[in-house]
Amino acid sequence: MTGYFGLIPAAGSGARMGEALPKQYLSIGDHPLLRYSVRQLCTHTAVQRTFIVLHPEDQLFSRYDWSEFGNRLVPLYCGGATRAESVLRGLERMRADVDREDWVLVHDAARPCLTGELIDRLLTEVSADEVGGLLAIPVADTLKRNDGERHVLRTESRDQLWQAQTPQMFRLHALVQALRAVDPRRVTDEASAMEQQGYHPRLVMGSVANLKVTYPEDLALAELLLARD
Ligand code: C5P
Repeated sequence: MTGYFGLIPAAGSGARMGEALPKQYLSIGDHPLLRYSVRQLCTHTAVQRTFIVLHPEDQLFSRYDWSEFGNRLVPLYCGGATRAESVLRGLERMRADVDREDWVLVHDAARPCLTGELIDRLLTEVSADEVGGLLAIPVADTLKRNDGERHVLRTESRDQLWQAQTPQMFRLHALVQALRAVDPRRVTDEASAMEQQGYHPRLVMGSVANLKVTYPEDLALAELLLARD
């Protein structure tokens, strides 16, 4: 039977937050941001094990107590210079434990508001797909193209445009092949690597609440959303 595994790239520096601490370690409530993503994947019954890719010199992860997740959480100190490189290195290490046709759910450490329902929806809609898919939401705002000097060059059509979220779910071997073939500086998600191989990943309705913490105000918003539960 095909298995499901989590992979959380968490080797970024969080430069856009303007903080000295990498953003996956900023606090929400009593926990680092990273813990919320880990918790959702590690406690989902279908996900056998979750691997987390850390910076090779990460000194912070081991300061926290992760024991409640037991051997369902596996830290890998093999992060790279870009997100795509971190994911590829994580996948290469996973090959020792994971079958080439098993599904891998890649999820950003910086999306703490993922829910079990969203994981369920992704698994339900993608498991029968040949290629795989991702959570995403249709673009709601009107889109303006900047002329480079902070004036509007033109309005872009938002028709059929969706914003990609995570998790993104692909088969281990196909994703390794796709990521090996791309320039890691040019892809910001797994789906785009698959697209460059000619695949058409399935779009699964995500949620605005599944936001990515990028700027400082996102952290306060995520904290509010997590407090609802
Ligand atoms: O910086 P950004 O928000 O795009 O990062 C998305 C995710 O990729 C984060 O979880 C971050 O820790 C991770 N990342 C990584 N290795 C890098 C850069 C980002 O694992 N070199």
